[in-house]
Amino acid sequence: MNPQKARDNLLLGHSRFQTRLVDRTVRLPEAHAPIAAILTCSDARVSPEILFDQPLGSLFVVRSAGQVADLAALGSLEYAAWALKVPLLVVMGHTQCGAVGAALNGAGGAPKNLAELAQMIRRGLPPQIDDPARALEIHVENTIRTILQDSPLIRSKVETGALLIQGALYDVASGNVTFLESHG
Ligand SMILES: [Zn+2]
Repeated sequence: MNPQKARDNLLLGHSRFQTRLVDRTVRLPEAHAPIAAILTCSDARVSPEILFDQPLGSLFVVRSAGQVADLAALGSLEYAAWALKVPLLVVMGHTQCGAVGAALNGAGGAPKNLAELAQMIRRGLPPQIDDPARALEIHVENTIRTILQDSPLIRSKVETGALLIQGALYDVASGNVTFLESHG
């Protein structure tokens, strides 16, 4: 698709959204009070508001390729836990993830920052691993561990029971979300 066509698609979609606003089939939230924060991948097939059928204002979503908990992601999640007081944080990985694939198979020829992102995922995986499904699950657990280690605020919220961290896997082929063991 060329850029103009892509842009036209977005503008057409936005005018449909505006129609729904006028029809009141969509509502703008009065306050910023999400029920959950979600850290997930940027993959276009993994849109939390659609997968969990949540309206505008319901989810505080932080996304990056491979849902890596870097400084920007951690700061954003701390905002959700500290200022917005969300009771739930979901860390969700997905099948066919390009970033986890690059971590497993090497990111040959990838540009600098993408190669570093793949390395960040790779460092948490066992050296001999070659099963993508297992790597995905380990990476989600690693990400949760990183959040708990690197954010004293989130760790204390989990310890006092004010925040539950839930790992999740999304299967892009079936549309199924599976919840892993929760923390907190
Ligand atoms: Zn992905």
